[in-house]
Amino acid sequence: MTAATATGGPGTLTGTPATVIELRDATRTYPGGVHALRGVNLTVHAGELLAVVGPSGSGKSTMLHVMGTLDKPTGGTVRIAGHDVSALSDARLSALRARHIGFVFQHFHLAAGRDAVDNVADGLLYAGVPARQRRARAREALARVRLDHRATHTPNELSGGEKQRVAIARALVGEPSLLLADEPTGALDTASGAIVMELLHELHASGTTICVITHDQAIADSLPRRVRFKDGEIVSDERGVRTAEGAAA
Ligand code: ADP
Repeated sequence: MTAATATGGPGTLTGTPATVIELRDATRTYPGGVHALRGVNLTVHAGELLAVVGPSGSGKSTMLHVMGTLDKPTGGTVRIAGHDVSALSDARLSALRARHIGFVFQHFHLAAGRDAVDNVADGLLYAGVPARQRRARAREALARVRLDHRATHTPNELSGGEKQRVAIARALVGEPSLLLADEPTGALDTASGAIVMELLHELHASGTTICVITHDQAIADSLPRRVRFKDGEIVSDERGVRTAEGAAA
């Protein structure tokens, strides 16, 4: 899948990358009056690799839930591949999520006792793909994360880094418009974390749209776009590779 055809949405015909997700003045206020998101404006185009970065309590988890359609904004609009999230019923929202969003979590969330192929094939459970095809596509996805040689291993037979690569394969197998990775290296040692980040860069190079949610400045600084949060607001949105001096080039 190329960047320009990721969603088939607006922009595809003009040659500009499609808009995968768009937040306009999005707010999320929790009961009790906590303003976790305060008028967030963000557009992500197909083919981008970005970090949503900020300290604890800045609104990252809320952002993950809203971007992932697990939660609706209390104000403003959120569009996924052109669909206004607020206008959809829960059933339609689940379908939209299954079609467009792939999730990667800090602690992998793999099913114990089931091999890597089955874990990845589960990523197609709600896509209406017959079981045999699910397993075939799962094997292809495992090859993309270079784990074909571990296909029949269960999670307890895999290292942390390998588990996260299985989780990435599961998120990718349905060819989502957006891969949302929540602290994907947070439970890994430095070397395994570096391999997972390298893999995300490779997937980005082949056209996958990826958003990494992290509190880790170094991880954010390694990505081509960095959206920084503080107190529920975007305080900066930088593009370009950061140089050794720390400035975006
Ligand atoms: P982060 O992921 O950056 O730590 P969160 O999105 O979890 O930030 O939280 C942002 C703010 O919203 C914090 O002040 C937090 O205490 C508050 N918050 C998060 N979830 C809830 C909730 N379910 N109910 C009330 N307040 C919440």
